[in-house]
Amino acid sequence: MTWTPVDCHAHTTMSDGALDVGALVERAQAHGVRPSVSDHISRDVAGSVKDVAGVRAYLDALDEYPVLRAGEFCWHDALWREIPPDLVSRFNHRIGSIHGFYLDDGTLVHAFGRHLPTDLTPDAYMDAHLDQVERFAAEMPVDILAHPTLIPIPLRSLSEELWTPAREERLVAALAGAGIAFEVSARYRPHERIVQRAVAAGVRISLGSDGHSADQVANIEMPLAMTRSLGVRDEDLYDPISHGSRTQGVPAE
Ligand SMILES: [Zn+2]
Ligand SMILES: [Zn+2]
Repeated sequence: MTWTPVDCHAHTTMSDGALDVGALVERAQAHGVRPSVSDHISRDVAGSVKDVAGVRAYLDALDEYPVLRAGEFCWHDALWREIPPDLVSRFNHRIGSIHGFYLDDGTLVHAFGRHLPTDLTPDAYMDAHLDQVERFAAEMPVDILAHPTLIPIPLRSLSEELWTPAREERLVAALAGAGIAFEVSARYRPHERIVQRAVAAGVRISLGSDGHSADQVANIEMPLAMTRSLGVRDEDLYDPISHGSRTQGVPAE
């Protein structure tokens, strides 16, 4: 069998995506990729799966389709801590996202918020972000860190300056230590140097469209071109079927 890329990260109408699962499968076939459904499982995303009963119904629905069963969990929302083992074992892979986190004073800093707390400088934000990445890697049972370079909207134009080599190193070391894959996202494109650093550290790389619409879902051309240009072998890209899931005792190769 020839190698076929996996889109490890895509959304449907079961959270905030525009396509139903059948339409997502068709888009994946059109792009020649193997589809995953990784809808939001979080109380902090509108329209998402919001409780354990909902997770069960979600997995039951996915069983009807030729898709990898995944989910995108928010680090800052506790729902991921409540998923019972019988449901955990039904996922092919799980994705963790730092869509936000709580500062020591209890303030939620959200990646999609329009403003940062006024007394929080960009550098202080980044240092807090890296503290959270290290906690995430130590605590969260996921296979992939989604869109690893995502930072709040007011800071995005400064992204390449704020992701200093030292901060990149902390993120990569945290993922390497935990065995969590680094996602190259088609939606929140990482700068090349951090991907290079992840590859050099032996962190597994995962491709994700993070698609919500028909033109986005399963379109992983850019991420695949980037990983190939950095010398990552296709067969080393994260594939939950070949490489297992660290979250359920399936041995990795
Ligand atoms: Zn996300
Ligand atoms: Zn997503």
